[in-house]
Amino acid sequence: MTEQNCSHSFHHPRPGAPLYCDSVSLEDLARKFGTPLYVYSACQIAERLMLFQQALAGREHLVCYAVKANSALAILKLLAGLGAGFDIVSGGELERVMAAAPEAAGKVVFSGVGKTPAEIDLALKAGILEFNVESEAELELLAARARRLAAASRLKTKARFALRVNPDVFADTHPYISTGLREHKFGIDIRRAPAIYKRAVKNRWLEAHGVSVHIGSQIRSADPFGAAMERVSRLVRQLDREGIALKSVDAGGGLGIDYHGGSFDAAEKVREYAAALAGALSGFGGKLLIEPGRFLVAQAGVLVTRVLHVKRNGAKTFVITDAAMNDLIRPALYQAHHEIVPVRRRAGKPQMVDVVGPVCESGDFFARDRKLGPVKPGDLVALLDAGAYGMAQSSNYNTRPRAAEVLVEGAKARLIRRRETMADLLGPEMV
Ligand SMILES: *Cc1c(COP(=O)(O)O)cnc(C)c1O
Repeated sequence: MTEQNCSHSFHHPRPGAPLYCDSVSLEDLARKFGTPLYVYSACQIAERLMLFQQALAGREHLVCYAVKANSALAILKLLAGLGAGFDIVSGGELERVMAAAPEAAGKVVFSGVGKTPAEIDLALKAGILEFNVESEAELELLAARARRLAAASRLKTKARFALRVNPDVFADTHPYISTGLREHKFGIDIRRAPAIYKRAVKNRWLEAHGVSVHIGSQIRSADPFGAAMERVSRLVRQLDREGIALKSVDAGGGLGIDYHGGSFDAAEKVREYAAALAGALSGFGGKLLIEPGRFLVAQAGVLVTRVLHVKRNGAKTFVITDAAMNDLIRPALYQAHHEIVPVRRRAGKPQMVDVVGPVCESGDFFARDRKLGPVKPGDLVALLDAGAYGMAQSSNYNTRPRAAEVLVEGAKARLIRRRETMADLLGPEMV
């Protein structure tokens, strides 16, 4: 990686030039790989990871990238190479980590409320760092699978677990991505945790390795992270007094970004976040895990799409693009905002438009009543900050092949996922 500053990877290098990702023109990429096309900056992803690593450098730590945000193998490999661990929520995500970076298996934490026996077995065999356990029933299942595995093989290791506690902290974000209240399906009521730890340490197939918490996603303020960690810290001290010394505290993910194109100082945000965690955890000498997803990859990615038509219906102007809700569902799912910019600016006044895809749903929109610079059919536009929960949540709805993905590394661009073909889509089916 170069010394180049990649916090603003997407830029116009000179007036009249198209939008670039680092040193690569998005126009050139669209010509070469077609549209819709996801383009990511490796440099920015690396830079964001290093911000966390530097902010936590004073203590034992591990940044476990939340694979669900963007699970491209090339991105997992990039992050593993820089020392990251991974937060997974399915056996499939573990398979991805093992395919991209098998040496990172010992740095994996496994979250999620519905782990199956097969997924638990896979993770036990892989020797992951810890299971973030979300219920007592899951803890029993984990112990049973560890016992069974020991009987069937020479693997006699205990299953390392952390209870994912629910701290009952309100995080100001979209209700679909808030997870830290007692009424949510996630975690175990923090008040019940001590009794569960005390019972678990008597089980010879379990090792009480840590405690974890994750209060939600796209949280812009450091305060709720600090508040949740205060409660976790109190639990850690209580357990310590009772003879249960945890080795790790996992603060989860959730640090948010600015989707509105405001001036955004990522380094400052990470410093505030790390300070909130460290303040609450003073006195804990074990390992601090964090699970950022969005913050590492969202602003490192754009979705490049071509304008198919510009259509007037009554008072409205619709810009119809070749990307649709199946490529990027965040606006439809969470009323999320993505800045949209023409890849090559045209002279003229911005117009008020709706930017929509070709899918047969009124929910298939990227923006409503948005001021957009003048565009014509054939022009390229870029949806910014699309690196997280974009491709990862894509689907084949309307039998639309998924987009291709390109990773830009300085002046080089590499196809990391080819565009799907109809054979990919029809392959699994039988008439
Ligand atoms: C989704 C999730 C994350 C990542 O959240 P971001 O908002 O992308 O940082 C981390 N940990 C758990 C348990 C999650 O479910």
